[in-house]
Amino acid sequence: MSRFWSEITKALVPYVPGEQPQVDNIIKLNTNENPYGPAPGVLKAIAEQANSELRRYPDPSASELKKAIASWYGINADQVFCGNGSDEVLAHLFVAFFKGKKPILFPDVTYSFYPVYCQLYQIESVQIPLNAQFEIDVSDYHLKNGGIIFPNPNAPTGVYLKPVAIEQLLQANPDTVVVVDEAYVDFGGESCIPLIDKYQNLLVVQTLSKSRGMAGMRVGFACGDSSLIEGLERIKNSFNSYPMDRLAIVAGAASFQDKKYFAETTEQIIFNRDFLTKGLQKLRFKVLPSKANFVFATHKINATVIMEALREQNIFVRHFKGPRIDNYLRISVGAYREIKALLAALEQIVQ
Ligand SMILES: *Cc1c(COP(=O)(O)O)cnc(C)c1O
Repeated sequence: MSRFWSEITKALVPYVPGEQPQVDNIIKLNTNENPYGPAPGVLKAIAEQANSELRRYPDPSASELKKAIASWYGINADQVFCGNGSDEVLAHLFVAFFKGKKPILFPDVTYSFYPVYCQLYQIESVQIPLNAQFEIDVSDYHLKNGGIIFPNPNAPTGVYLKPVAIEQLLQANPDTVVVVDEAYVDFGGESCIPLIDKYQNLLVVQTLSKSRGMAGMRVGFACGDSSLIEGLERIKNSFNSYPMDRLAIVAGAASFQDKKYFAETTEQIIFNRDFLTKGLQKLRFKVLPSKANFVFATHKINATVIMEALREQNIFVRHFKGPRIDNYLRISVGAYREIKALLAALEQIVQ
């Protein structure tokens, strides 16, 4: 605390990211990183771009990246917005579409950055409880609102909602923007991006941090009607003209060129998720059905006790405080050998 802080700075409760221990030989299953990393073409593109051209500012509109994303999804480049990680895209859309007079809606158990942006930008919100199975029930969202946002699959539960249910939400709320945060959709879910021509109030946010193994590059994007994208560009150009650096633009574009690597690595993660789920169930964990690259699991033994015991063996998993999720752990789907090591450690802990 300093006497120089503004009232808003004093009041903020910032988001706390998962720990990034700066040591070797750990099994890191706490931040949903991809164990396989970016496609080989991404590393090549970065190496080629690491030259004296770095003296120049990057393309402020990241056109090459927008084109690559548009061609992957069969949409127009003016239906794509890019940002420095999807967290930045989310921050901009809160100002662009949510800062009105009515409260926005999101689930009570969800990505913990949403309430932080509400506080930062002074946006009212109402949290809608997930049902007893930790699912989003769209009929609970038929309230007057200034916008709706949720991840699909949801975080940190991994529970997935079918696009047909999301269409009901879009039809019931024609005058507010419905944001679907698809950070984890590539692990077996179906994207809502094909619906953006049908619904002008739909904005879909994605990231290259999870399914494309590029968390360290900070590339995120949003797809929607070109008028929504224009709104986001206005906010971006009032904040930072160059959120995407030269390396991030070429690296992001290159990751959309290698369909085979993408398919193989996401399929491997889905296979590993199944192995992890079955292994946990064998150890008497209850595991929520996940379509993400993590599982959310609970055991008779206290979650923080398990987390601390794993930590002593240099295995990191994530715990979130909160009334309904206090006894759950979120475990990222790592490489096969990492999951084997985790399950072996857990067997000792819970026996
Ligand atoms: C990881 C995650 C993000 C942020 O991704 P970045 O692109 O790395 O900023 C956004 N939303 C959800 C739900 C996430 O889990």
